[in-house]
Amino acid sequence: MSRNTLPPKERTKIPRQEMPEQEADLRRHNFAEVNRGLTVLGATTEALRCLECAKPACVAGCPVGVKIRDFVELITAGDYLGAASKIREDNVLPAITGRVCPQETQCEGCCILGKKFEPLGIGYLERFVADYEREHGAVGLPEIAPPTGKRVAIIGSGPAGLSAAGDLVRWGHAVTVFEALHEIGGVLIYGIPEFRLPKEIVRHEVDVLRQMGVAFQTNVVVGKTVTIDELMAEDGYDAVLVATGAGLPKFMEIPGEHLSGVYSANEFLTRVNLMHANEFPRYDEPVFDCRGQDIAVIGGGNTAMDAVRTAARLGARTSTLIYRRTEAEMPARVEEVRHAKQEGIELLTLANPVAFLGDDDGRLTAVRCIRMELGEPDDSGRRAPVPIAGSESDLPVAMAVVALGTGANPLVQSSTPDMVTNRKGYIAADPNSLRTSKRGVFAAGDIVTGAATVILAMAAGRTAAASIREYLDSGRWDGETPSPA
Ligand code: FAD
Ligand code: SF4
Repeated sequence: MSRNTLPPKERTKIPRQEMPEQEADLRRHNFAEVNRGLTVLGATTEALRCLECAKPACVAGCPVGVKIRDFVELITAGDYLGAASKIREDNVLPAITGRVCPQETQCEGCCILGKKFEPLGIGYLERFVADYEREHGAVGLPEIAPPTGKRVAIIGSGPAGLSAAGDLVRWGHAVTVFEALHEIGGVLIYGIPEFRLPKEIVRHEVDVLRQMGVAFQTNVVVGKTVTIDELMAEDGYDAVLVATGAGLPKFMEIPGEHLSGVYSANEFLTRVNLMHANEFPRYDEPVFDCRGQDIAVIGGGNTAMDAVRTAARLGARTSTLIYRRTEAEMPARVEEVRHAKQEGIELLTLANPVAFLGDDDGRLTAVRCIRMELGEPDDSGRRAPVPIAGSESDLPVAMAVVALGTGANPLVQSSTPDMVTNRKGYIAADPNSLRTSKRGVFAAGDIVTGAATVILAMAAGRTAAASIREYLDSGRWDGETPSPA
């Protein structure tokens, strides 16, 4: 299949192709996508670097086992549509994962080239072929099996729900996705900003599912508008998949958190991404007016990075990220940290807020932080941050965004008492089948694992879909009941 005639030594001499980017000075003032995508020449040159290993370690590093070597070979052969189809065998949202997957810890982190040289730009190539396919109007709809007469309800339209919907509808089941918000996509729509993941790409993927026959109902809050029992007993659904994510914000529980100007990242990002608050008053949802203000975001993950870079784009004078460990321990994708620094985001590391301070009108004026030092490793394997007594100081800010992680969305669990949850409120599901303790009900994605990644949620959605198919075919519901551990 391969047209790569270069000997391995010559391949390693080709430098890793750089992702064309919007200039930092320019992009700090707009929401357009930062990465512009490889050109055809850039992509084929990058593909030529692949060593086409007999045992491709990259594949083992991909949570859904995309056949990386095979799709890269198709790129070197100039068959970009073939490469896209090859990826779609294992990954139904390649334009999205090519943009947001933490490749450095997954496929690229395992790439053999990376032992001595820069790893292959697998994410860049995945994005290239998915964009090529979309821009050439060539996304082929998979074959749909004849109707089985079985109906499946999926609650939540994030990557877990969408990937399960794609598989189930292909197998001939009638699938309806119920979503609490007014737009489909979960975190892909309301969390990850436009400058990292343009919404038109998510909408395009949703349209493909619609064309395949998936029905979507928005503004349906399961647990309030309708319950799982009603869906099954009254509306006649044969199986239900709960894919409601982990969108409940965690707060710091320190003094002053009630002050006006203190947001959770979830609220701040949802207002801007979903409700267009950055275009107020054209849209009627406001958000804090960051123009000319000093703002701070607390946290070191992707959500914190998205929030601080969003605030900068809303016109903040200074945007500071406060993180209690050092840059090396930040969980955010390496590319996001680099982009943030290029955009003038200031990193205040080894610091932790102990209070929010306000004025007489209840408006935030400063964050009081204590300096930290790194001690012994904790449960996560990272060195634990330890406060240095007496080192407090105040950072004047007008807005602060708390991005310290999220917990389980609770509504579905509280309205389904016979579905077992664990002590953190996540749904207990059998790890292999993703069956819950309630007959006919499955669960997948962040609502089972806690906040994770897009690709892991997608992989879980596909596992659940396969189990649902097996259940609908056989009618069997046997095996262990998931324990709430
Ligand atoms: P979600 O995407 O959370 O979707 C759940 C959906 O269920 C939501 O639309 C919600 O409205 C809906 N829902 C909830 N309750 C109900 C109900 N009662 N009735 C009906 N609908 C309901 N991961 C990466 O891999 N790379 C990244 O760069 C990255 N960046 C991120 C940035 C941010 C700001 C955030 C918040 C997360 C990020 N993640 C990233 C994590 C990733 O997005 C999640 O792990 C993933 O979206 C989880 O998918 P899911 O389908 O389980 O849930
Ligand atoms: Fe190519 Fe790297 Fe995979 Fe080897 S490990 S096949 S070099 S991408």
